[in-house]
Amino acid sequence: MFADNDPRLSQLLEGIVRLASGDLNSRIEVSPARDELDAIIMGTNLLAEDLQIIYEELEQRVEVRTKLLHEAHLEMQKMAMQDPLTGLANRSALLTALKSAQSDGARDTLPPVILLLDLDAFKSINDTQGHTAGDKVLITVADRIRGAVRATDVVARLGGDEFAIVMPATGADQAAVVGQRILAALKEPIELPDRSIRCGASVGLSVGDAGQGPEEMLMQADVAMYASKAEGLNRLHIFEPGLLLVRRLRSQLLDDLRSALKGEGLVLNYQPVVELATGRVEGVEALIRWNHPSRGRIMPDEFIPLAEEAGLISELGRWVLTTAVEQLRRWVDEDAVDSAFSVRINISATDLQSLQFIEDVRGVLKETGVRPEQVVLELTEMAIVKGNDLDRYSLGGLRGLGVGIEIDDFGTGYSSISYLRRLPVDRVKVDRSLIVGLGTDPNQPALVAAVLQLVRACGLEAVWEGVETAEQAEHLRTLGCLSAQGYFFSKPLPADDIPALVAAAFPAGNIGP
Ligand code: C2E
Ligand code: CA
Ligand code: CA
Repeated sequence: MFADNDPRLSQLLEGIVRLASGDLNSRIEVSPARDELDAIIMGTNLLAEDLQIIYEELEQRVEVRTKLLHEAHLEMQKMAMQDPLTGLANRSALLTALKSAQSDGARDTLPPVILLLDLDAFKSINDTQGHTAGDKVLITVADRIRGAVRATDVVARLGGDEFAIVMPATGADQAAVVGQRILAALKEPIELPDRSIRCGASVGLSVGDAGQGPEEMLMQADVAMYASKAEGLNRLHIFEPGLLLVRRLRSQLLDDLRSALKGEGLVLNYQPVVELATGRVEGVEALIRWNHPSRGRIMPDEFIPLAEEAGLISELGRWVLTTAVEQLRRWVDEDAVDSAFSVRINISATDLQSLQFIEDVRGVLKETGVRPEQVVLELTEMAIVKGNDLDRYSLGGLRGLGVGIEIDDFGTGYSSISYLRRLPVDRVKVDRSLIVGLGTDPNQPALVAAVLQLVRACGLEAVWEGVETAEQAEHLRTLGCLSAQGYFFSKPLPADDIPALVAAAFPAGNIGP
């Protein structure tokens, strides 16, 4: 036993207080007595030992966890700044880089530049070749851009097929050279598993001004990029304030087109299609015109692409379809035309891709009671060849409704004969560019004959468009071309002028007004 005044008791107490205060290294001294009190002291020391081990392990674990957390945080930060597909910077990283390039620009002699790049045919690659191929294209483009710029330039993907490059302290001239180098790099074919493709781009360039925010620079590059796109493939445009005006006019025109679609201003003109052997007007092609309240008549080549880009083309297509078929109904009711007479309607590629369009055609046929054979839809070669499976399904669906289908602008695209054979079409409309030299170019007659032969070999009939002279018409007739259309017979006319034209017909053999 130990005495009440044993000094080891107070030692024990002090030791426990030290341990409790966090000093896990401290130990209490064991006496030579080795009695019960020493046993308690040793037990306490053991507990302290355990506590220390546990504590150290815990500290280690906290350290590891902290490190992991830090890494995860860095990764997340990278992800928030990076496009996961290409590893390029993303939009927010680009804006950050642009901001710092602009503030550095105040010190540098040359201003920062941003290039904005939009791929020209990416959507159709994605649609026809699939998303894996689309991803491959984006990754390849990213690599090529990176290979064409300096290490200090920031390359970003802004989403979809839009890329941007921030070049600190560069100036317009030097940046334009880099832009051209990128365009050249993109001209090289991209190898996909079963084919190689080319994917061009349009580039806009904007030079940073003092006091300009990154968003404003990006907007200017966007305006310049649109100007490049409007000019054709593989162009580079430098932003200039005049382009803003162009953009404003464009958006004004779009607003006007929206209200024209809801109210008045759009009209259809009709151009006769003439059977060459007999001179009979076998039908008409509906061609849209826009009587703009202040700009006067605007032709479709100017506003159809606009409507296409702005997503108004379906609405426009629906209007044309309904208006043309209802007009045909009126002509039939007035006995102005017979049951073999057809109305041709131009269909955009977008219409072809929408299943709603088939329903619209079905609906208007039902409402008007017009015979489906009297409605012929004109589709450009490009729209069909570029199309995906859905388009072919739509073609089949339209075909199932009994309407005629004709390939428009034949000869300007690249459809193969085997392709032509497989398509559910009845006729091709041969582009006017294939006849312009007739009468001047000695090789032209052979070409015209060859095209007609080719079309017939596919089991189809040809309508030739853009016939402007009696000589051309006569030549086509002797070659056995079924029908033709063009200024020689008549310009597109208002609906009211058509019945008289149909009644008069064109003298067979000696065709012409
Ligand atoms: P397109 O389908 O190839 O139409 C034929 C174009 O050639 C028409 O131009 C017509 O006026 C013009 N043309 C007719 N005969 C001759 C001729 O003898 N010589 C020459 N040089 N030209 C002739 P337009 O009306 O300006 O239409 C241009 C294009 O706009 C059309 O080309 C078509 O692609 C598109 N378009 C017209 N109306 C519509 C429509 O309602 N819907 C859609 N989606 N596109 C339309
Ligand atoms: Ca046409
Ligand atoms: Ca055409």
